[in-house]
Amino acid sequence: MLTPAISEALNKQLNREYYSWYVYLALAAFFEKVDLEGFSIWARARAAEELGHAQKFYDYIINRGGEIELFQIDAPNHHWENPIAAMEAALQHEKSVTKGIHGIMSVAREHSDFTTEVFVHWFVNEQIEEENSVEKIVQKMKMVEGNSAGLFILDTQIREMEAMASQSPA
Ligand code: MG
Repeated sequence: MLTPAISEALNKQLNREYYSWYVYLALAAFFEKVDLEGFSIWARARAAEELGHAQKFYDYIINRGGEIELFQIDAPNHHWENPIAAMEAALQHEKSVTKGIHGIMSVAREHSDFTTEVFVHWFVNEQIEEENSVEKIVQKMKMVEGNSAGLFILDTQIREMEAMASQSPA
């Protein structure tokens, strides 16, 4: 059984994962609107991943005999000054998700819930990857800032990268 504190922390994270889904859906729509199809495909793939994360928390709460609480999902921002600002928002979002994940780890340790600690471990590692990959894209966007041909090439590269990722087994 989950203690109330752990249950609350997990359900809050479940909500944050659904919110992450919303954030990436908003980003995908924005990139679509500014004709960056590759970026849009990338954001859609991230959105699908976030639903997968939510599913993991959902299943874990149920498997531990906990109660699912579905909170209201906040509306994400859906307008940015430019593509770099949008991608920087994604990076800030991932950093806040990392903090949330670390928060669950703290609660799990405080309550000596080793099972939850092991479960959350996967997400701790996943966040390193999430932050790194978004940060790399932000850096590349800054490299080509003000150069629409450069941004077009980057968009094509991201589209190819996503096409390859969707073909290889997860
Ligand atoms: Mg996530």
